[in-house]
Amino acid sequence: MAVQTVASTTNSAAASTASDSASPSTVDLGPAAALSCRECGHRVPLGPVFACEECFGPLEIAYDFSAYDAEELRGRIEAGPANIWRYAPLLPVPADVAGKPNLNPGWTKLVQADNLARELGVEAGKLFVKDDSGNPTHSFKDRVVAQALEAARAFGFTTLSCSSTGNLAGAVGAAAARAGFRSCVFIPHDLEQGKVVMAAVYGGELVGIEGNYDDVNRFCSELIGDPAGEGWGFVNVNLRPYYAEGSKTLAYEICEQLGWRLPDQIVVPIASGSQLTKIDKGLQELIKLGLVEDRPYKIFGAQAEGCSPVSAAFKAGHDVVRPQKPDTIAKSLAIGNPADGPYVLDIARRTGGAVEDVNDEQVVDAIKLLARTEGIFAETAGGVTVGVTRKLIESGALDPSLTTVVLNTGDGLKTLDAVAGTGLTATIRPSLESFREAGLV
Ligand SMILES: *Cc1c(COP(=O)(O)O)cnc(C)c1O
Ligand SMILES: [Zn+2]
Repeated sequence: MAVQTVASTTNSAAASTASDSASPSTVDLGPAAALSCRECGHRVPLGPVFACEECFGPLEIAYDFSAYDAEELRGRIEAGPANIWRYAPLLPVPADVAGKPNLNPGWTKLVQADNLARELGVEAGKLFVKDDSGNPTHSFKDRVVAQALEAARAFGFTTLSCSSTGNLAGAVGAAAARAGFRSCVFIPHDLEQGKVVMAAVYGGELVGIEGNYDDVNRFCSELIGDPAGEGWGFVNVNLRPYYAEGSKTLAYEICEQLGWRLPDQIVVPIASGSQLTKIDKGLQELIKLGLVEDRPYKIFGAQAEGCSPVSAAFKAGHDVVRPQKPDTIAKSLAIGNPADGPYVLDIARRTGGAVEDVNDEQVVDAIKLLARTEGIFAETAGGVTVGVTRKLIESGALDPSLTTVVLNTGDGLKTLDAVAGTGLTATIRPSLESFREAGLV
């Protein structure tokens, strides 16, 4: 395959199988050694492929971490930049990645949420919010796009694309602008205005599809197989194995920010389920590398009731996830047929966690609760995790005496409609008399 040698021959980049990939020596993605099938373990060279040619299982990055010494690695990470590239030795990126044009996301705040803890009945000092609204395009998606961008560069793609529930479109548009790629992204036509503007402003092409996310995704799979999509890197389709690794950085940061300790419990939102499965992968890697102590942790998944296929399967004791037609205000999580659903079920059950859902009214209440207790304005996905945390504490599934991290993965400014009706306390004339009349003193 010509693409992996020089960047100017990009038109043949969209390989559909790995069998014709160039030798791995032409692709420098740091410690990434190969792609390996999550189902059958079949290995193929690094390339823009995502499904196993033997069993159609999802491909994941296999690493060579054998040379690492825990103390040396910890020191190297701590001396690294205040963004995800401090973890470059654990990611599929070249060693000099921090010097390339990239949005450099990550190292977001881990907020000790004592006011929220008090409201939820959690022991003081034990509840934390990992606030990923602080990323360059105000969602966790900048982490995964940064990885996909490096893979796109390595494979010689010049157009970045994706199917998106909103946040991904903005993250791809911004990363492409910064790195000098063309971008063309696809979203359901009826997304929130904040997400549409956020995706369009970076100057790439933004296409609304008449249908829901699952229709958008199906369309993109078709485009990849068509000559029209040649040379395109779809961050969450043909670059998915690389993209997905970005979520590991959430696990790394949470542990490092807790002083190289595992949290006891983590509450993670579920759209496709990729983020949750890779947070687990990241924690497992830290344990194996000796960077944290090996002790049990529980992972909890959070969905909105109007799109809760994984939660429904968990509660019914099923191993398979029955697709749903989404109908919820939590549009960033509205994937009715989540690719990683079965793996999420495995992880929740293996770690002793759970998958739970809350309705739209509870999502809105939780957004307001987080805002008024901690000064964090979350998008609907953050309302889902905070709402589910509250529900899990009430049901006894989540232990309020243990260290718990709740993810906020996006910014409330993108989903203003969810809190419509929140507004002025009073409108007064510019006089003290009028102020007094309003009953505020
Ligand atoms: C995409 C997204 C997620 C998680 O997505 P997965 O597909 O499960 O990895 C969570 N929160 C927000 C705000 C998102 O945009
Ligand atoms: Zn396989």
